[in-house]
Amino acid sequence: MKIASTITILSLVISSQLATAQANKKDTQKVKSDVSGTLDTSKGKVRRARGSFGNFVDKTQTPGYIPHETFDPTFMYEPGEPYRSGSGAPGPMYWQNKADYKIAATLDTNTKSITGTVEIAYTNNSPDELNYLWLQLDQNLFSTSSRGHFKTPIGGGRFGNVEFSGGDSISSVSIVKNGAKGPETTAVTDYVITDTRMQIRLKTPMKAKGDKMTIKIVYSFKIPPDGSDRMGMTETQKGRIYEIAQWYPRMCVYDEVEGWNIEPYLGAAEFYLEYGDIDFSVTVPSNMVVAGSGELQNPTEVLTPTEIDRLNKAKASDAKVTIVGVDEIGKPSTHLKSSGNVTWHYKINNTRDASWACSTAFIWDAARINLPTGKKCMSMSFYPIECKDDSSWGRSTEYVKASIEFYSKTYYVFPWPCASNVAGNVHGMEYPGIVFCGWKSKMSQLFFVTTHEFGHNWFPMLVGSNERKYAWMDEGFNTFINIYSGQNFNKGEYNKPQTPDQLISFAKRDSNVVMTYEDCMPQRDIGMLCYFKPAEALYLLREYIVGHDRFDYAFHSYINRWAFKHPTPKDFFRSMNEGTGEDLNWFWKEWIYKSWQLDQSVSDVKYSAGDTINGTKGAEITIKNNKQMVMPVIIEVKESNGHTGRVTLPAEIWQALGVWKFHYNSTSTITSVTIDPDKVMPDADRSNNTWPATTN
Ligand SMILES: [Zn+2]
Repeated sequence: MKIASTITILSLVISSQLATAQANKKDTQKVKSDVSGTLDTSKGKVRRARGSFGNFVDKTQTPGYIPHETFDPTFMYEPGEPYRSGSGAPGPMYWQNKADYKIAATLDTNTKSITGTVEIAYTNNSPDELNYLWLQLDQNLFSTSSRGHFKTPIGGGRFGNVEFSGGDSISSVSIVKNGAKGPETTAVTDYVITDTRMQIRLKTPMKAKGDKMTIKIVYSFKIPPDGSDRMGMTETQKGRIYEIAQWYPRMCVYDEVEGWNIEPYLGAAEFYLEYGDIDFSVTVPSNMVVAGSGELQNPTEVLTPTEIDRLNKAKASDAKVTIVGVDEIGKPSTHLKSSGNVTWHYKINNTRDASWACSTAFIWDAARINLPTGKKCMSMSFYPIECKDDSSWGRSTEYVKASIEFYSKTYYVFPWPCASNVAGNVHGMEYPGIVFCGWKSKMSQLFFVTTHEFGHNWFPMLVGSNERKYAWMDEGFNTFINIYSGQNFNKGEYNKPQTPDQLISFAKRDSNVVMTYEDCMPQRDIGMLCYFKPAEALYLLREYIVGHDRFDYAFHSYINRWAFKHPTPKDFFRSMNEGTGEDLNWFWKEWIYKSWQLDQSVSDVKYSAGDTINGTKGAEITIKNNKQMVMPVIIEVKESNGHTGRVTLPAEIWQALGVWKFHYNSTSTITSVTIDPDKVMPDADRSNNTWPATTN
């Protein structure tokens, strides 16, 4: 039975399990709730609980719950401003800087290193003059003198790099200006590198509101074999796979919230990047295939006529088309040139990042993606022979296609020309238009890592939140949309029922909260706090509090407002409050800012006054909220006449009281009352959820 998902403060809906329409009609009625705060109705009279100060016991409250802590009027009370409105939308004076990149890089397979030149065309749209610029040199994490290195636990952990010393080597920094005789380059000597960041101190400040500057940096770095599980190298039968990311100096975001966002890259927390267009060329040995973010600009210079022909077939095919097959790996006929290097040129627009991968070992297949606008783009997979089977990467292109089509239809149309999935030892990492997933993943595991990493193309690649500070806004939102992508794929082939059990056991042993820097979380908490708990919050909000229609409307409005922009947590909370028409501040507070637990219980059932035959005139059911978290209460009532009914009471019943009594229209003796019969709520103690209490 589907539980009523639309709940308002004033109307409490009973939904019935009775099979016939007639019975359903009879059972769908308004519940009369005790709104007086009175509990004692034993003499048929309304009487307020009173007592002397000495032995006063307030029977309307429970010891573990203080209502005003949850329903807190000062939560998020700061007014909106011209940059970010109180409605959660960008304000009339919202601005954002822009960073366009032109990168030329060369892979040296002998030294396993990258040498590159990047030209960053930076636009200062802010109302501030900028005396200096901050850039991110993420490769410096892999130096043995980095903060991230010292923060790595013995043994390494997922993000540690214990046996490798790398880092960016900067050969030159200069400012490029277009003079009368073409570009003029002026060397910059006044720059400071601090851990993973570089400050360029400008002789002439950038003016406010539209000034532009091009910075040119020549750099190189040794490729870490295992770059914090986000990039690296994988040895396979037919050659090494290079997964290249965090590979060029990138602008820090300058915003009106805190100026330059300069948190260093320490390993766990991800990125906060500016939008712009990225044009990149990578030069690699001629026997390699390169997968990159965006669209290949020079296919005739790097692909054989056969491969181009197959790609064109794939553009018109919903089934995968092989571009480089198992038997073609390593054959001279697979490549245009038989020696030396070739340069692959890619371009991706309106993006916060770009990455690429290359190898001699790739099988390559592709299919078309059908977008709801009628536009098409491409799903592609690049993987070694070891994982070619359909139980593994043989179905990757199908997973990518289904994910992009689902998210495009449900949330926002995929904005880039290609979605490529690359197999390697990176377990799962996302970049715009390209993701790296574990080459040993199989079946549902490969589906979920693929749909997760591509879900990140919506959060944070498209809705550009700050991952370094608010990991839950990308990991949590993405884990939430993955639930529905899983339900949708191939008639539920890999659908996993959603259960709060993990959250219940976590809440009992851990008091850490979602609103924490990922770098400040013990590694064991990251999965719960960044992924599962925020995803579960949104899932319960959509399924049991505001319902699909209102949730989806508000969530879409958040995505549309902030696509290619930089929302903060408050912009999200306010967009959801306003879009659904609910003050959900209690919900955000308890789920995102607190480690509170939920414990709902049923404590008593009394038949109504004047009832001569038990239950025929209805009953008063008393329920309690025993801990600080509140949620709606779903109650199932069984009667001796065989009837089962359900009531859903909104969380607002707990606004003033921890004990609540409501009238239930029973017609015979009540045999049981059960709170949360489907076990969808993260209820810490289910032993008190039934009446009469069961004794073991
Ligand atoms: Zn993720």
